[in-house]
Amino acid sequence: MTQKPLSYDACTPGHVTLAGGGPGDPDLLTVAVVRALQNADVILHDRLISAEVLALAAPDAQCIETGKEGFGPGMTQAAISALIVTYARQGRAVLRLKSGDPAVFGRLDEELEALEAAGISFTILPGITAASAAVAALGQSLTQRGRNGELRILTGHDVTGYADHDWRALARPGAVAAIYMGKRAARFLQGRLLMHGAAPGTPISIVENASRADQRIVAATLITLPGALEGITGPAVLLLGLAPRAAARMRLAALKEVTQ
Ligand code: SAH
Repeated sequence: MTQKPLSYDACTPGHVTLAGGGPGDPDLLTVAVVRALQNADVILHDRLISAEVLALAAPDAQCIETGKEGFGPGMTQAAISALIVTYARQGRAVLRLKSGDPAVFGRLDEELEALEAAGISFTILPGITAASAAVAALGQSLTQRGRNGELRILTGHDVTGYADHDWRALARPGAVAAIYMGKRAARFLQGRLLMHGAAPGTPISIVENASRADQRIVAATLITLPGALEGITGPAVLLLGLAPRAAARMRLAALKEVTQ
């Protein structure tokens, strides 16, 4: 195993740090990731990494954008992996920065395999995944005693097209799932869930640009989902089974925070 413990100084020559850049708000970065940003020579980052996060990099760091959102076209995974290996072999301190958590729909394994094959040491720094930021925006919990003792994290899309899932489990009352890359798959998801007996009124919250200044929440149901997604152009997580907490209660909670 070539992975070093977290306390290891990640940014050393020839070492690669694979880190989670969180959902966008730089306040949601871990201290370790901020340190890695400040010390890296080369930063290879996803398109979804926000400008505010990249602004924390050292002024002389080389920043390279590696690809597009989700599984869209961009630099191929093989080319990204090769680039990481090349920079590490040059003795640079490399930071591979992925949005959210690198271990959630981040193709982390493919890069780790390339590093292992090249005998390059690495550290993984976790980040806050989009589902966590999205559910916080709703004022809800991803799990709840008596409602759901399990949480599913799914992708609407995989390399072969619309992704297949355990629809019967997802259609059960009280099921909660965080659906990434689900915009284009919305009608497919809707059809599969209804076919497996989900209630048409099952809440689905759409959280676009979670944690960012342009965050938007749209409360939908299984029936209204495709229409509710019209006009959503940014990255969005669909939270199946969760409705936003009543706005009035959210405001009250915010007020309490201010007056405390
Ligand atoms: N590793 C990332 C996910 C990458 S896949 C993570 O842990 O969050 C890209 C998908 O993540 C997007 O299509 C969208 O579904 C979701 N996503 C990423 N950032 C988001 C944000 N700020 N708000 C809402 N969804 C986001």
